[in-house]
Amino acid sequence: MAFSNEQMERYSRHIILKEVGSKGQKKLLASKVLIIGTGGLGAPAAMYLAAAGVGTIGLVDYDHVDLSNLQRQIIHLTADINKPKVISGKETINNMNPDVNVVTYREWISSTNITDIIKDQDYDFIIDGTDNFPAKFLINDACVLLGKPFSHAGIIRFQGQTMTYVPRQGPCYRCVFKNPPPPEVVPTCKQAGVLGVMGGIIGTIQATEALKYILGLGNLLTGKLLTFDALTMEFRKIKLPNNKKCQVCGEEPSIKELIDYDQAVCELKR
Ligand SMILES: [Zn+2]
Repeated sequence: MAFSNEQMERYSRHIILKEVGSKGQKKLLASKVLIIGTGGLGAPAAMYLAAAGVGTIGLVDYDHVDLSNLQRQIIHLTADINKPKVISGKETINNMNPDVNVVTYREWISSTNITDIIKDQDYDFIIDGTDNFPAKFLINDACVLLGKPFSHAGIIRFQGQTMTYVPRQGPCYRCVFKNPPPPEVVPTCKQAGVLGVMGGIIGTIQATEALKYILGLGNLLTGKLLTFDALTMEFRKIKLPNNKKCQVCGEEPSIKELIDYDQAVCELKR
């Protein structure tokens, strides 16, 4: 595949990087990334991956755009209020970069559909842009069972965290966090608030990990949890040990099927 003149110009700042070059840009155009949740984290991740020329981007979200989303979910505009988020996201991406094929899944993920969604385009990398523990454990277990790499992240108030799972290269999310906390003790962003830029900071780190994984560059956040505190401007990298007793990726895994955990009612009615 040869680049068109327009593509040569569009991606020139990538192509000029010796670590990327034409070969790397072609890899990006042939790559497929699934983004689960087009909210605070998924919106900036999707926009940067689209701008970078990731050829296929899957967007998963059942929700519609709400006025209260626009403080941080920058892929959606005021005119998009009440539109399904996946449609609004697809339109923004199509307007930004016609090279990207956007595949939409207007669904809530659950144990019954997540495997089919990941297999639908045989995605290379998955981004967890969700805002609740049941979804995070579900994405983790599905990726472990299917042998897919993914980026986990969470944001609340002025704090964010992210880690990357690559099969056989480090611990999974469950190795570290074991089981979801009971729904009643978990504050959501709606209850606790979140500084809008947190999604941009952490979501673009997730996009960076996806690009590095596809290009085979640098060191990923495997076996490391990166935390960020916006008030002190401190990033910390916490080393995560391998957990041989992990229920899903350990030596004797007890989880062989996906689990739908209960979710706080307020989250379901966002
Ligand atoms: Zn594990």
